[in-house]
Order: sequence, then structure tokens, then C-alpha cells
Amino acid sequence: VLDWFDTRCPASREITDRAKQRIPGGVQHNLAFNYPFPLAITGAHGAHLTDLDGNTYVDFLQAGGPTILGSNYAPVNERVAEVIRESGPVTGLFHEYELKLAESIHRYMPHVEMYRSLGSGTEAVMAAVRAARAFTGNSVVIKVGGAYHGWSDTMVYGLRVPGTYRMNAKGIPFGATSRTRELFPHDLGALKRKLVENRARGGTAAVVVEPLGPESGTRPAPQDFNARVRELCDEFGALLVFDEVVTGFRVGMGGAAGYFGVVPDLTVFGKAVAGGYPMAGGVGGRADVMAVFGSGLDGKSGAHIQVGGTLSANPLSCAAGYFAIEEMARTNAPVVAGRAGDRLTRGLQRLIDKRGLPYVVYNTGSIVHLESSGVMLLDMHNPVKLLKEKGPRKELIEQMGAAYAAHGIITLAGSRLYTSMADTDAVVDDALSRFDEVFSL
Ligand code: PMP
Repeated sequence: VLDWFDTRCPASREITDRAKQRIPGGVQHNLAFNYPFPLAITGAHGAHLTDLDGNTYVDFLQAGGPTILGSNYAPVNERVAEVIRESGPVTGLFHEYELKLAESIHRYMPHVEMYRSLGSGTEAVMAAVRAARAFTGNSVVIKVGGAYHGWSDTMVYGLRVPGTYRMNAKGIPFGATSRTRELFPHDLGALKRKLVENRARGGTAAVVVEPLGPESGTRPAPQDFNARVRELCDEFGALLVFDEVVTGFRVGMGGAAGYFGVVPDLTVFGKAVAGGYPMAGGVGGRADVMAVFGSGLDGKSGAHIQVGGTLSANPLSCAAGYFAIEEMARTNAPVVAGRAGDRLTRGLQRLIDKRGLPYVVYNTGSIVHLESSGVMLLDMHNPVKLLKEKGPRKELIEQMGAAYAAHGIITLAGSRLYTSMADTDAVVDDALSRFDEVFSL
């Protein structure tokens, strides 16, 4: 693998080395792998990527999830370009695409009665937490260990599960997380205990979950988990917040709420909600809860919570989201991408069985997980041990990510693969033969 990088990727090595002088660590956001060095990408089309040295790859990163239609999808690009020609990317004033996007989301997810556009999934989670606190008058928020909700202080990853490391916790004062409680994955008994405990102190503002299970279903939630969380939220007067940054429009046009048949009070969006364009984020849900955001037009600004900023709800991102969502509905993209995910998963399972590899592969439609069974699933029922293993797992999957790349496949950190509508049977089968080469090493 190292030889391959040395001989095939000199331009990537040179530019990413140079980046170390001006960019901390040489990397700003790289979801694939950094070992032995990151690849510099110059082209993205449908199911494929090209790097600076001219190598091509099958793209199962898909930017980390937003491009369900496939990368660089021309029909959306063309319509976004028309909007830019007319109004440029931002005016700071109301634009019809803000409303069209909100109406579109409501069409496919009727429980999103109102929607506020923001700049990222991280911001949208922050807004959801603030709204839940304002609406309920309570301050405690409960989340699930191992779930990722962005990088805000209050919702930082791997917060307080005893004995685990706290990712991203440097620079966050302990007090910032004093109103956040964290559960072991899938532990409904613990959820109930925390809700009871908080009731004695005033109550819980919200329970925030990734409905597929922590980290986009890396640890899959039991089928009835969300319904049970819904019941507990109702019993204790806490709002249920679904983080659908990954699942929204990916597991179906109705998102994970439609998939599980569970209606949350608030839903957090990101990624696909701007169709792969920048400023992808927003929060939506019950009209009475969303009313806490106010209009900003009634002269009573103090009565409402304030969220958003200069580029929030800009015409470019809203138009891109609107066109992409309508195009996903027209083309049935979540289902098409889901079938590709199923085909990829079945094929990987055959390769694992054929070679007796210590791997597990599982998917929910277009979200495919490929994990080392030794590190991960044997400890499925021992979350503390599981989360402790995160260190070695990270190293292993990063090395696997580099090995897959050397055979022409880009994954998310060597362990997750997002399929898109561009993944035809031929693309998936080509990828499977490349995986077979890696597994034969
Ligand atoms: N929630 C989930 C479930 C996510 O996967 C992510 C991003 N990977 C976020 C929130 C944060 O979104 P963003 O990166 O847009 O801030």
C-alpha cells in the first residue's frame, strides 16, 4: 500500500506536505484517511473521483452523505447556476427559495410543520437544544453515547461515558456539559432512570437521538428503540429530537421518521438538505415548538430565541436543497441508492464468507458499515468496552481506508460506505472486484 502511494500519488504528497505549513495539521476536513497522507481531489462526477495525479476511484464517501443523487449532479448545478446569475449567492433578504425548501421538506415529512435554515448540522443541533430548553423551560438534554451531533460544546462526542476518552473535549470547560446527560447505546432502562432523576429537579428539555443508532447506525438501534424513546419522552414531557443529518432523504424521502414510523417533535437536518452545496443545516418540527424562534419582525425580539447568521437561508443553499430534494423525489434516488447499498452489502458479505475474514458488513439502504468484527460487534452488548476500543478501531479503519484507496475505492474512514443514485450495478460490481483484491492480500 505504501509503495502504491509513493509511486502513484506524488502530487498529492507534495501539496499535502506543503499544506502543513499554512494549515494546522495540513488538513482541514478529510473524511477518508490521512495515512500515509491525504489525497488531493480534483474531480468528482457521479460515482467517481479523480485525484491530482490523475488516479480515479469509486466514490463511496459521497462527501460524507449529502450527494444522494451522485456527486456534482448536473441538473441541480444548472438550476443553482441560474439562481446565482440572478441574485448571486447571498443578499441578506428574503428569497422565495427559503420558502420553497421549507414547503418541500414539509411535503415529504409532514411533521416538519415549520423549518428554520441554518449553516450546518452542528448549528442545527445547537438550535434544537436551545428551542427545546426555551419551549419546556427545562435545561437538561439527554443524548446517546457514541452518537455524533456535531462539535458544539454541549453536545460533544463521547461526553461522559465512564472510562472512555472524550473526543474533541480539549478546550471545552466541564461546566459546558453540566446539563448534558449521556446514555449507553440502546439502554432504555438508563434513559428512564435519567428522566426520573431529572423530573425531581424540574424536568428534561429533550432527548436527542440518531434514529438509526449512534454514528449513523454503526451500533444499530433495535427496531422498536425509537418508538420506546417516543413513549418515554411523552411520559416525562421531554421533546424528542431526531438528528436526521445523515438519514434525512437518505433512508427514504420521509427520513428515519418515515422508516421507523415514529414522529419526533423536532428534526435536525444537514448534508442532503442543501443537496451537497455549502451551508447545509436546519431545524424543523412542531409549529408550537418552532414558534420559539419567532419572526424577528414583531418588535418583540426579546421574547424569542435568536439563531442564525449572515449566510443562513441564503438563496444558493436553499435553492440547491429545494432542487435536489425535488430531484430525489422525481428519480426515487433514496430507493435507487438503497438498492445499490443492498447489492454492495450482499457482495461484501460473499467476499467475507469466501475468505473467512474477521469482518462484518451491514446496511440500512445506502448507509453501509464495514467493520472489523474483532474490534466492534463482539462487544455490542458491552458498550463501555466497545467505546474504549475506539482508539485501536480508529487506527485500523484508517489503514484499511488507505488500503481500499490503493485499490481504487474511497470510503468514509475505511468503515462506512455511502452509495448514491450514480451507483449502477456495474459500478458496484467493479468496486466488489477491487475489494476482493484488497481482501486477497
Ligand atoms: N449529526 C450527525 C448525525 C452527523 O453525522 C453530523 C455530521 N457528520 C452532524 C450532526 C454535524 O453536521 P455538520 O457537519 O453539518 O455540522
